[in-house]
Amino acid sequence: MQVPPFSLQKQLSEIGQELDSAVCRVINSGHFIGGEEVKNFEASFAEACNVRYSIGCNSGTDALVLALRALDIGPGDEVITTSFSFFATAEAISNVGAKPVFVDVDPNNYLLDLKLIKQSINSSTKAILPVHLFGCPINMTELVSLAKEKGLRIIEDCAQAAGSSWCGKSVGSMGDVGCFSFFPTKNLGAGGDGGAVTTNDPDIAKRIRELAVHGMPQRYFHTELGYNSRLDSIQAAILNVKLPLLPKWIRKRQQIAEKYHDLLDGLEGLELPFSSLESDQIHSWNQYVIRVKDDLKFDQIKEENSDLEMQNPFFNLPNSKTRDLLKKKLYEKGVNTIIYYPIPIHLQPAYKELNYISKSLPHTENLCSQVLSLPIFPELSIEEQEYVANSIKQLLER
Ligand SMILES: *Cc1c(COP(=O)(O)O)cnc(C)c1O
Repeated sequence: MQVPPFSLQKQLSEIGQELDSAVCRVINSGHFIGGEEVKNFEASFAEACNVRYSIGCNSGTDALVLALRALDIGPGDEVITTSFSFFATAEAISNVGAKPVFVDVDPNNYLLDLKLIKQSINSSTKAILPVHLFGCPINMTELVSLAKEKGLRIIEDCAQAAGSSWCGKSVGSMGDVGCFSFFPTKNLGAGGDGGAVTTNDPDIAKRIRELAVHGMPQRYFHTELGYNSRLDSIQAAILNVKLPLLPKWIRKRQQIAEKYHDLLDGLEGLELPFSSLESDQIHSWNQYVIRVKDDLKFDQIKEENSDLEMQNPFFNLPNSKTRDLLKKKLYEKGVNTIIYYPIPIHLQPAYKELNYISKSLPHTENLCSQVLSLPIFPELSIEEQEYVANSIKQLLER
């Protein structure tokens, strides 16, 4: 059996025809930029997130940049965020001229450790940029109250968390701005790049709309330097077909996560994700990420594979050979897993000049060496899941 980490094939048999006709409708209309499809999507997405405004843009990365710019964050400013995320989270902060200040994660949920944020706040700190990583919403009640107390803004990176909520409120509706990605592998994927910014603040919404079209409030009248970052009509048409299905897809993801919990529970050397979710925490399971400890049982196989290529050739990170070996063995059995993320952002070569210190974020670095994402997407079958779990069991119980 071959199990891909992610696949759109089965989804196509369900909605392929609808997608075809939506795309053709746009092509025949001749309206490729803006128009009804974009307007309708922005309205429906705002409703889905329970916010007043949603503004489409070119990508999740652009959504972050637009949000930071709209909050006047730039050179001299610091933004507190996590190093255990996709690179774009910090890249956006740097690209507006500000400095990402990394705080370690809570190893129990892989999210920014709220207890550690306070000590990183200084007079240059302007905002906190939490990531609802893998679809797990961070405790926004605590975060919002801390930000209020310290006079800081919150930009939520919701790229992996469309469909997640905290205390009945959608992610992207609790901070000052929410940033979503419609990259095809996210919970709500377009047919290419796409993103959206959400906010309840009319001034921020207006500013983002202008920044996304060259800082242009009126045609050919430019009040500031902006970007060309729009959600195009074909992407919006695709998203209009898919958005109504999002709740169903999230339920599927949740069922798959529960099933993995049942199938893998109690295996020595494995740690399963977020087994103790708080009741108000609705997880959308964009990824199901396990941790592979260097346990003894697996040692024998390790010996046989001393030639195994390491994930992090550039750094002296305590890379878990067991994790890398499990990944390789699973691949040989047809189970494709992915490592999100093998290298923490603060140790990426691109950030060499900022001299972030290795071992300064022990939990983040540890996670990067141990995490493994199992196949998860709404159409993953029970048989495929059982095959994944049985393959893991066979390997670990050898
Ligand atoms: C995907 C992702 C982004 C960037 O989104 P793009 O649409 O690919 O630009 C930002 N942050 C996180 C956490 C992501 O997973």
